[in-house]
Amino acid sequence: MNADFTAAELAFQAEVREFLANEFPAELKQKVDKRIRLSKDEIVGWQKILHKKGWMAVNWPQEFGGTGWTATQKYIFSTEMGLVGAPEPTPFGVTMVAPVIMAYGSEEQKQRFLPDILESNVWWCQGYSEPNAGSDLASLKTMAVRDGDDYVVNGNKTWNTYGQYADWIFCLVRTDRSDKHKGISFLLYPMEQPGVEVRPIAMMSGESEFNETFFTDARTPKENVVGQVNGGWGVAMTLLGYERGEAAATTPIAFRSELDRLFAMAKERGVSDDPVIRQRLAEAYSKVEIMRYMGLGTLTRFIKGATPGPSESLFKLYWSEYHKAVTELAVDILGADAMWIEGQQPMTSFSTDLPGSPNSSASWVGTFYNARAGDRKSVV
Ligand SMILES: Cc1cc2nc3c(=O)[nH]c(=O)nc-3n(C[C@H](O)[C@H](O)[C@H](O)COP(=O)(O)OP(=O)(O)OC[C@H]3O[C@@H](n4cnc5c(N)ncnc54)[C@H](O)[C@@H]3O)c2cc1C
Repeated sequence: MNADFTAAELAFQAEVREFLANEFPAELKQKVDKRIRLSKDEIVGWQKILHKKGWMAVNWPQEFGGTGWTATQKYIFSTEMGLVGAPEPTPFGVTMVAPVIMAYGSEEQKQRFLPDILESNVWWCQGYSEPNAGSDLASLKTMAVRDGDDYVVNGNKTWNTYGQYADWIFCLVRTDRSDKHKGISFLLYPMEQPGVEVRPIAMMSGESEFNETFFTDARTPKENVVGQVNGGWGVAMTLLGYERGEAAATTPIAFRSELDRLFAMAKERGVSDDPVIRQRLAEAYSKVEIMRYMGLGTLTRFIKGATPGPSESLFKLYWSEYHKAVTELAVDILGADAMWIEGQQPMTSFSTDLPGSPNSSASWVGTFYNARAGDRKSVV
């Protein structure tokens, strides 16, 4: 493994730095620095700036308007974005459904959906989980039945992140009850229609990031199945691999700066000499270093042409367990001060939250959303 950048990569790093210094809006940076949540308009506005530069879709091939960057360039870009706190594009369109449409979609689907994702004209959300289908995702019951040229959808999804902003949903639906896995299809449909009702779920912080979504005779043309009818399970598994695969290389950088803040807090509060706290801090430090090397290993594999796979699932499980432990440590260090009225939000492009922010459920839920356990743990 060679951790040095080439001259061309250093020049690219300088270009990214200059772009961010000039183009990342100061008012957004102030909000990010204060951990204030960005509005939908602010996120979309920033994504349009990235698009103007040609940097909206770092993972897409150039033929669809992507950058065609190497894995190292993507790593440099994500690192520089994270260092200034610039949010990466919301993943549901550009990172999740788009690669699936590229891999499994028809020509019509590619032409219809990809440009709007690239230009941030359409906000997507993910409809996989149901009240009784989380880790055991294949037990989902939301039903889509053919009616002439349409599918008609009835059922209930949950935990739809930013579903309240979404124009379209990519959804796993049951199209055949006779087979658990081979009766699922991957369906796209608009959220703005009478049969779709979005109910925000209140978090401990009082804010709502995710939602329950109810479908009552929601309709979509039959052309909006991606891949084969009843072949949606394979499509869905591909998408899970893309979710945060490459984040393995950059997430530990955020964890390290977060841990540095925790070291400082421990000192400020005079607990850094406490042997138990010291031991837990040392353990956290070791784990961040382990993750850094796991990330560099991932980057090396991507440079050699590998795509996200089981080791990225291992990384997700590792960081979610780590993050829960380090947040609990932060709460122990902060004591009653941890009970802030408003939770801190995961605002950086690395999607971590601050240590000692218990009202943000972000650190604890990592073990859940990274779990999709039946799948993720079996993958490992
Ligand atoms: C912040 C957040 C955002 C999310 N966004 C979305 C979204 O946009 N769209 C979407 O579709 N879903 C979303 N999810 C849902 C997420 O993918 C699910 O939480 C996940 O699939 C786990 O399902 P569950 O929450 O029902 O947990 P459960 O399935 O109830 O699991 C709870 C715990 O039990 C463990 N467990 C479960 N079954 C077993 C078993 N058989 N053996 C051993 N251990 C087991 C799990 O590992 C986990 O630790 C989101 C979740 C969160 C927390």
